[in-house]
Amino acid sequence: MRGMYHMGNGRWLGEEKWRERSRSIWTMAWKVWFVALVAELFLFFFFKPTAECGRGYYFWLFIVRPSGAQLLVLLGYYLAITRRWKSYSERGLALGAVILFTLLAGIITSVHTSVGLIPITLLLPMLLTPLYKDRLMTVVQAVLLTAVYILDYYYFIPNSPYMPRTNALIEIGIFVATIVGVLVALRLVDDAALKDEERSRRDSLTHLYNHESFYEELKYRQRRFDEYAERFSVAVMDIDDFKRVNDTYGHAFGDGVIREIALACEEYAGKDGFCARYGGEEFAVIFPEMGIEEAVAAAEQIRRRFAGKVFWTGDGEKSFSVSVGVAEYDRAYPSASAFFEKVDEALYRAKREGKNMVKR
Ligand code: GH3
Ligand code: MG
Ligand code: MG
Repeated sequence: MRGMYHMGNGRWLGEEKWRERSRSIWTMAWKVWFVALVAELFLFFFFKPTAECGRGYYFWLFIVRPSGAQLLVLLGYYLAITRRWKSYSERGLALGAVILFTLLAGIITSVHTSVGLIPITLLLPMLLTPLYKDRLMTVVQAVLLTAVYILDYYYFIPNSPYMPRTNALIEIGIFVATIVGVLVALRLVDDAALKDEERSRRDSLTHLYNHESFYEELKYRQRRFDEYAERFSVAVMDIDDFKRVNDTYGHAFGDGVIREIALACEEYAGKDGFCARYGGEEFAVIFPEMGIEEAVAAAEQIRRRFAGKVFWTGDGEKSFSVSVGVAEYDRAYPSASAFFEKVDEALYRAKREGKNMVKR
């Protein structure tokens, strides 16, 4: 069973990933703050002043106090992620989020003590825990929320400064707000999952599609060819003498060259073109609905664009080149890689015949 979940991990995140995740937690948190404020304003709207409590006092007690306290919490979190608290540990980040959402939900439940349904707000942070992919964090979250509930029951409810009389409308309002909150939270979890999935399809250096998604797309195109006779072509490119580029100017410089060819690819592959980083300095493009002539022309544009790019090096301006092989998918091949061999052969012809050219 253990293998089915990512168990708690003391993994370290890269700075960029860490920043991205802490920002998305931050975005989630202020949205939660906003939804809570709207719900509180809704209750305020239906509040009937009594001798004990006028509208002003109610506004202070049930709007300024909770949303103000939540703002302080948000500010604290913001300062923590932008300044001090940078351990880059995955679990540290999850723990920060658990504490943040416990405080946000805890403030609501400890302020609105007169409403019977308010404790269901404490369910909301639980919904976010799958995001942390760390079962220990889910347990910690459950324990903290239970503690908040006990604290409410034994401390905040008996010590409330004022208990407005609730009515069915308020209880329904709270119920609806919680449902909306659940939907918002689920939506956010979904968005995060989608983003993760998209990221896993991309190469981190160039943001082009990676090897795996290239083959998925190629297989998809093969099916479209079989079923609807939709034509397509594929180009594969390999930077010329790239080992020498690395050896002469260093790996970091080489990475910059790789990024350039990715840009050229995206610029000239057409709006339906599918650009992937096939391997280290090898790229593949799928041209949907293009025959060999059009695909060769597009590949030629990419080649020329890259060859025309000037790089600044220690010994002056330099340009580099790329060789390209192109083939059209013209019959049923037994597998995606069987067809890819044909494209590869064209690439090797380009290399053999002198590089810096497109061959079919
Ligand atoms: P050819 O013209 O025949 O292609 O010669 P080449 O030197 O380019 O030969 P090859 O394609 O085999 O070279 C691949 C080199 O690309 C080897 C490796 O050092 C380099 N490389 C692969 N991935 C990366 C990367 O991500 N960054 C950098 N900087 N270099 C890479
Ligand atoms: Mg190569
Ligand atoms: Mg090469």
